[in-house]
Amino acid sequence: MIDPVIILGSGLAGYAVARELRKLDAELPIIMLSEDHAGFYSKPMLSNALTTGKTAQTLLNGDADKMASQLNMTIRPHCRVTVVDTASNTITLENGEQLLYGQLVLALGADQIRLPLQGTGVEQILSVNDLDDYGSFRDALVDKKQISIIGAGLIGCEFANDLVTAGFQVNVLDIGTQPLGRLLPPAGGAFIQQKLAAAGVFFHLNATTQSVDKVGERMHLTLASGETIESDIVLSSVGLQPRTQLASTAGLQVNRGIVVNQMLQTQSENIYAIGDCAEVEGKVLPFVMPITHAARALAATLSGNSTPVHYPAMPVMVKTPACPTVVSPPDFNVSGEWLVEADEDGVKALYQDEAGNLLGYALLGAAVKEKMALTAQLPPILA
Ligand SMILES: Cc1cc2nc3c(=O)[nH]c(=O)nc-3n(C[C@H](O)[C@H](O)[C@H](O)COP(=O)(O)OP(=O)(O)OC[C@H]3O[C@@H](n4cnc5c(N)ncnc54)[C@H](O)[C@@H]3O)c2cc1C
Repeated sequence: MIDPVIILGSGLAGYAVARELRKLDAELPIIMLSEDHAGFYSKPMLSNALTTGKTAQTLLNGDADKMASQLNMTIRPHCRVTVVDTASNTITLENGEQLLYGQLVLALGADQIRLPLQGTGVEQILSVNDLDDYGSFRDALVDKKQISIIGAGLIGCEFANDLVTAGFQVNVLDIGTQPLGRLLPPAGGAFIQQKLAAAGVFFHLNATTQSVDKVGERMHLTLASGETIESDIVLSSVGLQPRTQLASTAGLQVNRGIVVNQMLQTQSENIYAIGDCAEVEGKVLPFVMPITHAARALAATLSGNSTPVHYPAMPVMVKTPACPTVVSPPDFNVSGEWLVEADEDGVKALYQDEAGNLLGYALLGAAVKEKMALTAQLPPILA
């Protein structure tokens, strides 16, 4: 008997590893445990599901039973794992049950960050980070009109576009001076702000939300400036925090994420991490493409053929149809400058080093057509 590969988490990362592993080995025992329903769905579709006419039910591609038979593995939904013991190669579930692993894959994802806000409405602030959250969000939207979104990053802007297209009145609040401040230079931020505003989104920038109060059926957001914004629903999308606690209490190294080398391997030689919870060679990349590349490499390693992950340039499409946008942000530790060409049709921003090498880009509007040609010039993210 071979001890099983146990995968913790049923998100895109957990399922990508299971799928790739099955392509390489039809028989290796695989057990997937997940705190949630463990069904398969595509998380990126949550932020444009109103426009695409999908609900939480129709976004589910396969429930745990269907996926278990499709991938010939055991899937145990609603199982929270509380302890990883690297000495005995066991995990412990919330109910005390212990399971032995041959190899363990941590695909635990990330939590939405909750701002430390004051007020009587704080408990009612919603965030959407998984299919169950999305179901609650859709229920909450029934008969409502006005939504305030705290956070003008990628997820906040995508929800704003989706909601305004579906006929809601949308406020977006951000502490920064522009939307997508971590991904776009100012000219790009101004362009997407203008396009989303033209579609009906109302931006409040330089705006620090201090408190959220429930007043009757309404939510009152009070800003540091003293201004109050009223709405029916408040959605928070201020960033993600990799889930590292299970790893750190197991004695594994964590930094921003669970620290792994290019083999996706933690300090414990038969424990690996992948997806939003992982920090691969210093990089936390909470997107789908890194998962796709990492899952192929990890599956090879798990099936006995040690394989490092390599990341090519991996541009991210921002799902804001009001302003087509694609970004390939420069690595945080490189230095260079943005060179920007902007007109009323779009923005082409190239991030270059002193020698003129392209290290990143942001393309908006008509400029997105240059995506393929520019991506070909970018260096790999992890060679
Ligand atoms: C609204 C939205 C839109 C997005 N759009 C895009 C996009 O357009 N393009 C793009 O590239 N990326 C996008 N992303 C990011 C992308 O979806 C994520 O990078 C990816 O889905 C992360 O997958 P994951 O499996 O690592 O994590 P998750 O999907 O979070 O899965 C984590 C799993 O771990 C389980 N788990 C956690 N703790 C435990 C425990 N203790 N015991 C057992 N199970 C546990 C959870 O139940 C869950 O099943 C978007 C994200 C969001 C939220």
